Amino acid sequence: MSKVKVNEDLCIGCGVCESLCPNVFKLENGKAKVIAEECGECDCQEAINSCSANAISFEEQSEQTNL
Ligand code: SF4
Repeated sequence: MSKVKVNEDLCIGCGVCESLCPNVFKLENGKAKVIAEECGECDCQEAINSCSANAISFEEQSEQTNL
């Protein structure tokens, strides 16, 4: 399972991630916020690749089994 993160210091608020992947990203006060930690069927990877500020990262979570 992986987790998406936005570095708000790098984000320039262009909105590309939100338009590609509205289930996961939402612009708030000019910065992208992650509203869902898991990417379902959307184009999350494309949003990550398309972020010109390189503000989005993917965090692999391997051994975590809570709930
Ligand atoms: Fe911010 Fe990158 Fe999303 Fe643009 S694509 S709003 S720079 S996180």
